[in-house]
Amino acid sequence: MSRRWLFADQLGPHFLDDRGQPVLLIESKAVFRRRVYHRQKAHLILSALRHRAAELDDQAVFVRAETYGQALKKVREPLEVCHPTSRAALAFVRGLDRVTVLPARGYVTSLEDFADWADGRRGALRMEAFYRFAREHHGVLLDGSDPVGGRWSYDTENREPPPKDGKLDVPAPPMPQEDDIDAQVRADLDQWEREGIRFAGRDGPRRFPATAEEATARLRHFLRHRLAAFGPYEDAMLATDPWLAHSMLSAAFNLGLLDPMAAVRGAEQAYRTQGAPLASVEGFIRQVMGWRDYAWHTYWYFEPTWRTSNGLAARRSLPGWWNDLDADAVDAHCLHDVLGGVRDRAWVHHIPRLMVLGNYALQRGWRPAELVEWFRTRFVDGYEWVMTGNVVGLSQYADLGRTTTKPYVSGGAYINRMSDYCGGCRYDPRHHLGEKACPFTAGYWAFLATNRTRIPANARMARTMKQLTRLTDLDAVVAQEKQRGSDPP
Ligand SMILES: Cc1cc2nc3c(=O)[nH]c(=O)nc-3n(C[C@H](O)[C@H](O)[C@H](O)COP(=O)(O)OP(=O)(O)OC[C@H]3O[C@@H](n4cnc5c(N)ncnc54)[C@H](O)[C@@H]3O)c2cc1C
Ligand code: SF4
Repeated sequence: MSRRWLFADQLGPHFLDDRGQPVLLIESKAVFRRRVYHRQKAHLILSALRHRAAELDDQAVFVRAETYGQALKKVREPLEVCHPTSRAALAFVRGLDRVTVLPARGYVTSLEDFADWADGRRGALRMEAFYRFAREHHGVLLDGSDPVGGRWSYDTENREPPPKDGKLDVPAPPMPQEDDIDAQVRADLDQWEREGIRFAGRDGPRRFPATAEEATARLRHFLRHRLAAFGPYEDAMLATDPWLAHSMLSAAFNLGLLDPMAAVRGAEQAYRTQGAPLASVEGFIRQVMGWRDYAWHTYWYFEPTWRTSNGLAARRSLPGWWNDLDADAVDAHCLHDVLGGVRDRAWVHHIPRLMVLGNYALQRGWRPAELVEWFRTRFVDGYEWVMTGNVVGLSQYADLGRTTTKPYVSGGAYINRMSDYCGGCRYDPRHHLGEKACPFTAGYWAFLATNRTRIPANARMARTMKQLTRLTDLDAVVAQEKQRGSDPP
């Protein structure tokens, strides 16, 4: 049996065919020299890799080296590897004579099945259509050939604002217990910092699973105790509760610790046997086999230049306070809290990413390519494949609607409705001009005014563009936001 080379995002049992299969694991230090990663992300990757090496013991050759090239010189045997997750890594392994590249694992739908589906379609490849195909193809949440409950999506039922008393009544997710491996990782990272390797953010306890066992425990707890509240509060934000009812499983999926299909089947079973609410179950399944797989497939299916799109001609560089995660420089309560969450945990949930961070970057005209790099390195779950769809497409509209029907841009009214941030803020979401002008509300109008000729005309934008023409003080708002520029609001 060939030795299976497992990259650091292929660490779960589903990346091996046989329990006794010989394995190669490589820890490359150069990876951490090339980019400024969040310290907790670096910790998680190293911890997961070293835990896997410890689990496999004699079954694995574990090489710690400066580069992959140097590590590979220490292993002479033929190797096989599952399709890596970035274009650069795929080109690298394909260029090695003694390495056989196997099909990808760790996603619900295969690359071939996606390509067959996509090749046969005319027009835009929307997530909703792919999700329906994937449900049918894998027989998930179906009654015969119909969707359970009669609808493919319960999205409209999953948009509740946060509870008025500021508390969501669900048990907190179980946190991993750090062990000797984590202690050694922390000591090594301290040493690397002394040697000059730079990290962003604050160190903190490891909050995300580093082993398949920890990931499975978090999934089980989520399905039993948190899934029911996941749906309704999926889009809500609370200053005192960053997790709400989210699963906090993305890092575990992306490290390859947890098979997404196990999570999908587990959620379906929670509906069929434990009475979990359909809207929550469908919402979670849509995230995992819909959005996550869609991000993966579109990364490979669309040409590589997709990730360098900049259709709105956004030219400003990311400011230093943003790069440094300097939340204390920011007064705007929502952005202060969310940026602080990235600094302290290397994770915030989907809506703070999309409607606070991404929204702000879009309004300010920051370069999508720099933002891609920022999200990739500052988040525990950030990887190149997940960036193009989420940052370039969904959040920054840099591809002018290849995967979305309109830009995800909004003013403070949305944040006010979906969070408890605005009450404690020096700005007012209803104001777009003057001292109290909310930077999101003012930024929203300024963004639309600046980009109205670049955003393709479409029915979903028509009402907004009409409102824009009715704003009598638009020039003053644009001038005000030009002056605010990229300074911390
Ligand atoms: C600007 C931006 C950047 C993002 N960057 C990342 C990233 O680096 N890595 C990442 O995994 N996700 C990313 N996402 C998607 C999503 O925000 C995270 O997957 C989610 O917040 C992770 O928290 P969770 O595990 O509690 O997710 P839950 O809310 O519990 O959702 C369940 C699972 O669905 C999957 N999922 C949901 N939405 C998406 C999506 N849009 N794309 C891919 N998977 C999805 C994740 O695996 C997640 O664990 C990004 C979204 C935006 C808007
Ligand atoms: S008023 Fe504006 S800046 Fe302040 S919290 Fe609300 S949306 Fe954010």
